[in-house]
Order: sequence, then structure tokens, then C-alpha cells
Amino acid sequence: MTNKTYSIFGAGAAGLYTAWRLLNGKPKNAKGKAKQLTAGDTLELYDWGKYDFSKKHPGTREPGARVCTWHYQDNKEKSYLELGGMRYAEYDKKTGGHLLVTTVIKQLGLDNYSRIFNESNDQLLFLRNRNMFLTEISPGDPAPYNISGGGAGQSPYEGFSIVQNLATTSQYPSTRKEWCDFNNTGKIIEAQPESSVFQKGDKAKDIGYWNLMYDQLGPEGYQYTADANGYSSNVINWNSAVAFNSNNEFAPGNQYKTLTLGYSAMFTALFAAIEELAKEKGINFRYYPDTRLHSVLDKKGMVHFKTGTRKNPWQPSAEKTCDAAWLAMPRNAIELVAEATRYQPNDGLDVLNDQRVKLYLEAAVMQPSYKIGLFFNEPWWKTATYSPRLTSLTVNDDALKGLADLKWPAAYLKKMKTTKKQDGTFLVYNVVFDSADAIVAAVEQCVGARLDARQLGELLTTTKQLDSIGPAFTDTPIRMAVYFGDNALNQSSEKVYGMLASYDDEYFTTFWRELEEGVKEDWTIPMSDDLQPLIGPRKASPAMVKMLRKQLAEMHFGPGSDPALVPEPLEARYMDWSLPPFNAGYHAWAAHYDICDVMQKIRKPSQLIKGADANIFIVGEAYSNDQAWVEGAYCTSESVLNEFFDIEPIVDNPDYPFICS
Ligand SMILES: Cc1cc2nc3c(=O)[nH]c(=O)nc-3n(C[C@H](O)[C@H](O)[C@H](O)COP(=O)(O)OP(=O)(O)OC[C@H]3O[C@@H](n4cnc5c(N)ncnc54)[C@H](O)[C@@H]3O)c2cc1C
Repeated sequence: MTNKTYSIFGAGAAGLYTAWRLLNGKPKNAKGKAKQLTAGDTLELYDWGKYDFSKKHPGTREPGARVCTWHYQDNKEKSYLELGGMRYAEYDKKTGGHLLVTTVIKQLGLDNYSRIFNESNDQLLFLRNRNMFLTEISPGDPAPYNISGGGAGQSPYEGFSIVQNLATTSQYPSTRKEWCDFNNTGKIIEAQPESSVFQKGDKAKDIGYWNLMYDQLGPEGYQYTADANGYSSNVINWNSAVAFNSNNEFAPGNQYKTLTLGYSAMFTALFAAIEELAKEKGINFRYYPDTRLHSVLDKKGMVHFKTGTRKNPWQPSAEKTCDAAWLAMPRNAIELVAEATRYQPNDGLDVLNDQRVKLYLEAAVMQPSYKIGLFFNEPWWKTATYSPRLTSLTVNDDALKGLADLKWPAAYLKKMKTTKKQDGTFLVYNVVFDSADAIVAAVEQCVGARLDARQLGELLTTTKQLDSIGPAFTDTPIRMAVYFGDNALNQSSEKVYGMLASYDDEYFTTFWRELEEGVKEDWTIPMSDDLQPLIGPRKASPAMVKMLRKQLAEMHFGPGSDPALVPEPLEARYMDWSLPPFNAGYHAWAAHYDICDVMQKIRKPSQLIKGADANIFIVGEAYSNDQAWVEGAYCTSESVLNEFFDIEPIVDNPDYPFICS
């Protein structure tokens, strides 16, 4: 019996998850057993970048590829910012969430580090040169948009509901399974006036979301929704069926979690688990950082590939082979491999350049994004004229333990942990309240008694979370500001306060890019060779910092405010997610595709070629049911292992299809 080699290209979320599950997955049957790696077999992990996984495997930035935690002075004891992915939705049977991320965090023992991300219910807004808070917008005090029918006096999230209500009801779709079904079958269900471009019966999947919003909301209604929800990527011309579901996730009040160690810690832990499992099982784990997949072909059932080095990524090295290859990378990175493969001596099956494969690869729209982080020696935003409302009080397990130590009646604690509202969600437990009045009212309702003065004080102290996050939204190029604050692990060290000073997606990446170089500097690296996101957060130029301070001053102190109101930061760095190899922070499904079919077939693209069967797999966020989330990367990876490698699902939950079918 010859030994097997499985090769994974990409050490981001999908690549690491695949390696981990290849090592710890249980085979479903004899076929699965035969495909399993055993002692003497080889598992290879390649990445174009070099992430800082451990002392033995150091790198230029924290792990996670499109997740990238940045600690002040690169010191893990100090405060941090997230310059890539930053949060997850903890899974709950009733309310849903990210099942696989929640599972991974538990299985890796990271749940002790999980904490509320603290989204504000009352965001600070700076729109059309006016400062306001979300809850202040009313018919008497409308937002500065000229919308007929009083639209500017309503919440900007109303725009999302108006378009979604064209095709959904309060009953359908509600589960993950039903949303998968809706991706193909969802239609406009109400008759529309003759003047509407889109009419009853038109399929949501065949309508661009921007087109639909313009048709329904008009130019000003569209602009209000687009500006005030912070994410331009939510309102591009993507597949309306998917947009309805995804945009629900961004409504204020939805709560997320993150890790106190920084989100990159999940990938450090995954890498360590892979090394340990491989050692335990006698499997040769070979990790090749700074090495890129150059081109790939299938030749008679074996995968033949060439790699390039970090120094010379575009030139191929010697050919290698493996039994199965995973391209755990996003669309742009795959298309770069396809481009090189096209010009190789083609004596095999060039899967990636097949016309149907190319068409399906184009189903994921690339969404560039840009994040700039600043660290300050004071949380100046807390005393600004327009200070973001970040108060957050939560009865979580820690708070319940604190109250138990303070000898609160056991019956109260039980009720606080278990009482649910009519809709099945908790009345108090893990709910984030943004004022003392709100949490006190809910707790009193829950325990059925008035709290005395001592209890009131104890409740407010034990439930107080970090006064951080936000975010605040604006139509200026900073788009979103996220207040991370002092989140250092070592709370006795010097106080440093982090702020994601700009989180822009889509439209303003070029605004910031021109400020990467100083005012007396010319470009020295072509954009196509600028691997900044792989190298790590890059120092911001003085011009970029000044521009940020100017816009932050307007947002927090009023129009025309002096940039000097915002202090000079201690450190300033950016991540430009419009650069290679990603060319996108995340992806969105294009309209006019049967995306369920794309998800199914692109995982093993030879399925799209008549008579072909090549062990080349594509996994990752880009072609998933949870685009823009790590969950999507894990789910596509899990589905490939379940279906093509006969590994038992990591969790058996029939209501949670990993991808749509
Ligand atoms: C600004 C921003 C905010 C986000 N917010 C969140 C969030 O809050 N929560 C969340 O869950 N998700 C978020 N995401 C999305 C999340 O980060 C991604 O969905 C996820 O990290 C994608 O993982 P992946 O494995 O699919 O791909 P990637 O992370 O892109 O990994 C691909 C890997 O492949 C490597 N590679 C590329 N080409 C080659 C090659 N030819 N050979 C070898 N290696 C190669 C790359 O170097 C990279 O390491 C955010 C992303 C960004 C950028």
C-alpha cells in the first residue's frame, strides 16, 4: 500500500479547519476509512504568507489570513484591534448563529476567552455633515435626506425591511434550510404599481439588490439606507435573495461575541491542534510558509502542481504531486492560479480554466475593504461633544456567579438564567442592555420583585461589560469607527486605547490608498505585487493620520471641527484588503446564478466537466452560505469532508445544512 499525500493551499480559516478535521474526523464507513490519513501518510499545508503561529513557526503578522489581530507594539499583553474579521454569532438552537465557529471555539477550549462584542443599540451617526444618534431620528427630527412619504423620519433599517417584505412573510423563510430554498424560489409576492421595474412573480435571485432598492426606495431612500448602515457591501448590486437574509444580521441589537485574546487566537489554537494530532497519529505534517500554489492540473487521477516562492511567486518551481488538493483561498487567488495554469504545457486536465468553472468562479463578487487602526493614550471619544453610546450591561455567567457570591437568592438567579419571553428568547440572560433603567426593569420583571438599593448597586456593578465597540457610522470615507478601548490582557500595564478609526468597504478604499504614500513620494511597487495584507498591518503615513483626525473630529465634535481635537495617535497602521492575493475583504453572491448549484459544484469543480473526476477541491468563505464570515469557510470545508471523504459531520444538526443544495 502506498502512502497518501493530501495538500492544502491556504492556511486561513478554511485551510486550517480542513487540516484539523482531516486529522480528527471519524470515518462514516469503509470508504471513509480508506480515504483517511494514517501513520506514514503526509499532510501538507502551503501558504503564500507567513503567519506567526508559534515560537517554532514565527511569521510577519498574527494568523488568520483575512482575520488579523494587531496588538499595540506587537505585544500580545497589550491592547489590540482587529484589522480583518473580528466577531462571531454564538450559536443558539432557537436564535441560530454560527454553529461551526461556536463548536470550534468550544472544542479548542477557547470558550473561556469568549466575550460579548457589544454592539450599540443607539449608534452615533454623522450623515451629510450632521451629527445625530439613531434613536433620535423621528418624524419631527428626520435624517437629512429628501425622501417622499416621511422615510427620513424613520430608522434607516426600514429601507431593508421594505425591500425584503416584497418577497418574504413573517413565517417564511425563517430557518437556515428555508433560506436555502428561498435562494432559488423566492419571488416578489405582492402586486407592484406599473411604474415599478420589478413585478410580482419576478425571482429575487435574478434581481440585483441595488437595482431593487433604487426601484423601491428612490435615490434618496437608497442613499439613506446605504449611508447609515455603515456597510456599503450590504447595498451593492448582489443577489437580492441572499441580501434579504444577510442584511438581517446587521440590524442594531444583534449581538456578537469575540475572543479576549484577539480573533487570531482561534487560528493559533487550530495550528497547534493540527501539529499535536499529526504527531499523535504518526502523520507527517509539512508546513510550507512563503510558498504559493502556482498552477495545478489533474493527470490520470493524480494532482500535479507547481509552487512559487515568496520572492518569485510568479515563476514555477519543480512539479510535485498529491492525491488530493484543497484550494483554500478566495476567488482572486484561485484566478491567479488559473491564469498561470493556462500558460503551462497542458498535458493534463486544466479544471480551473473550463468555461463552466470560470462562470461559477465569477458567481462571487469581490468586495474590497480597508481598515485603519489607531492607538491613543486616552479614550478621547468619551468626552467628545458627540460621544458614542457604549454602555452595556449583561447578565452573563460571570455576572450570575458574582451575584451568587454576593448572596443573591438562588431563586432569583435561577429565574434570571432561565426565564424566556414569548418569542423563546431570554428575558434577561445574555441580553445586552444599554441603560441601567432597562436592565433593572427586565430583572425586576423576571424575579417578580423590586430590587432594594443595595441590590441595584450590585446588579449594575456585576453586569457592567467593557464600555467599548459601537460602531459609529458616517457617509464620510471613514464609514465606520469601532471603539475597542483598553482591552489589554495585562490590565496592570500602561493604559492604551484602541480605535478602528476607519472601516470602509467598497467605495472608499482608493480614497485611503492614495494616502498610503507621503505627499512627496511616488509608488515603487505595482499594485499587483503589493502583498501588504500578507506582510501585516503597515504604518500609516502622516497624511493618512491627519485625514483621519480631520474626519474623526467632524464626527465626534461637529462639522468643521479642528483635527487637533483628536490627539495624535501613539501608533497607526492599516490593512488594505483590496490588495493581492485577496483583492477583497469578503464576497457576495452575484444575481442571475443558481447559487445552491454553484456551492455544490464549485467544491469539486471537475463536477462541472463532463466525464471528469479530479481530486481538486475549493473551500473557503467565497463560495459559501455564510459569505463574509469565518463560518462560511468552516462550513464549505466541513461539507467537502463529509461528502467526498466520508467523514462524519462534526455536529449532526439536520436543521443546519452546511451549504445549500
Ligand atoms: C475587514 C474584514 C472584516 C471581516 N469581518 C468578519 C467578522 O467580523 N467575522 C467573521 O467571521 N468574518 C469576518 N470577515 C471574513 C473572514 O475574515 C473571512 O470569511 C475568512 O477569514 C476567510 O477565510 P478563508 O479561509 O476562506 O480565506 P482566507 O482567509 O482568504 O485564506 C486564504 C489563504 O490562502 C493563501 N493563499 C492565497 N493564494 C495562495 C496560493 N496561490 N498558494 C498558497 N496560499 C495561497 C492566503 O495567503 C491566505 O492565507 C471579515 C473580513 C475582512 C477582510
